Amino acid sequence: MADIFAEGYKETPYWWDLAPRAEPDDRTPPEKADAVVIGSGNAGLSCALTLARRGRDVVVLDAEAAGHGASTRNAGYLGRGLWFKYGDMAKAVGRERAGALAGVAVEAHDYAAGLIRDEQIACFHRDTGRFIAAPSKRAYDKLEKDLEMMIADGVPVDAEMIGPERQRGEVGSGLYRGGQILRGNGVIHAGLYHRGLLERVRGEGAAVVGFCPVTAVERERNGFRVATPRGAVAAKEAFVATNGYTPRALPWQRRRVVPVSAYMVATEALPPGLMAKVLPSGRPMIENRDTPRWIRPNEDGARILFGGTTGEDLASLRDKAGHLYREMTAVAPDLDGVKLTHCWTGKVAFSFDMLPHAGVHDGLHYAMGWCASGVPMGTYLGHKTALRIVGDPDAATPLDNRRFPTWPFYTGDPWFLPLVVAWLKWRDRRTMRG
Ligand SMILES: Cc1cc2nc3c(=O)[nH]c(=O)nc-3n(C[C@H](O)[C@H](O)[C@H](O)COP(=O)(O)OP(=O)(O)OC[C@H]3O[C@@H](n4cnc5c(N)ncnc54)[C@H](O)[C@@H]3O)c2cc1C
Repeated sequence: MADIFAEGYKETPYWWDLAPRAEPDDRTPPEKADAVVIGSGNAGLSCALTLARRGRDVVVLDAEAAGHGASTRNAGYLGRGLWFKYGDMAKAVGRERAGALAGVAVEAHDYAAGLIRDEQIACFHRDTGRFIAAPSKRAYDKLEKDLEMMIADGVPVDAEMIGPERQRGEVGSGLYRGGQILRGNGVIHAGLYHRGLLERVRGEGAAVVGFCPVTAVERERNGFRVATPRGAVAAKEAFVATNGYTPRALPWQRRRVVPVSAYMVATEALPPGLMAKVLPSGRPMIENRDTPRWIRPNEDGARILFGGTTGEDLASLRDKAGHLYREMTAVAPDLDGVKLTHCWTGKVAFSFDMLPHAGVHDGLHYAMGWCASGVPMGTYLGHKTALRIVGDPDAATPLDNRRFPTWPFYTGDPWFLPLVVAWLKWRDRRTMRG
């Protein structure tokens, strides 16, 4: 393969160029607070913002720099749906329940989009809609059938099927058999969105302390003692918002989420005219497969951001960049010859029932298992968690306090992941033949 790396190629998220991480510091957290939030991603910060605005004294702790996790590593799709395909979800939980759960995803999108608007968070939020590409006739038919079911069940979805003859108006690829335009959702700059939340949280006077890992959470008579190497915080309430990075110190939550590595690359600025060939409508695309690839323009439409969730931890990110380059040029052959400026990885968390969870266990609040929809879902359920903490009846959602399943002997190290990913890829290949 020709040299695919641009000069100055980096192995940090593209988003960090405009929204750099904080340098390590040695601040100590306050000894007391009304609430401690563990994890400073979108979920933790959204909770902290609502709590602070309801007059609570909040401390947010993170093991690394604030926003070190998936919240500044994602693709920036602000969606209105769940990972679980509607038809499959309806089979698993029944149509009425599936309708309610799909409705929460729409509310989550609308809450996050409203927050960006109301708070004037400058994060290049655009209401682009999304193209869901069908790699086979079978995948196309399933998309169409699921859409019909959602409409019949009253889910507020605005979508249009695009037949194979119109597909090249969406993506310059010979791989797909049409797809679906899903309207009413969009894209953001993931780093700037997180930074906007962080600034608002700090602006409300909440302490956000990075490089301060929580090492134990102990119940006390009046709440919790949250221990870190730089001292403990005593608080009446605590919220676990660590999703795909949930540490051993939180074994109950860690046993219930499966961290899966997802990878992305960014290209250099494309030569004039190339973006219009690759993504003619400017809409982000994601494949309708169990192991999807996704491709979108960056915030100014000059570069391509491409990713895939493979679950495979290759020896190095450079190897992964080579792998993603081959996948990217298979999807969009016009990109052959374009160089990469960034390759990075982050962890999404899947739950065993493929649905997000929020609730309280042993007095400790949690919200996680976003199944790759955490940008809107984390923001929304972080806020709802804050409402639960202050006792606001508006806190309830159909996702609360459902049984949060795990597997016997699973402790948070997903040794089975390569097998599951191989099986999903096999299923995808079979679907693609259909
Ligand atoms: C490559 C990639 C692409 C994605 N694309 C999308 C997308 O386009 N749209 C979408 O909706 N979702 C997407 N996701 C998923 C989404 O980014 C996440 O679901 C979401 O950001 C999770 O937010 P969170 O706040 O729950 O957790 P995170 O942002 O992951 O934050 C968890 C935090 O917990 C901290 N932590 C861990 N241990 C401790 C400890 N002991 N003490 C204190 N803190 C600790 C971590 O350092 C981390 O900062 C993507 C994810 C990846 C990796």
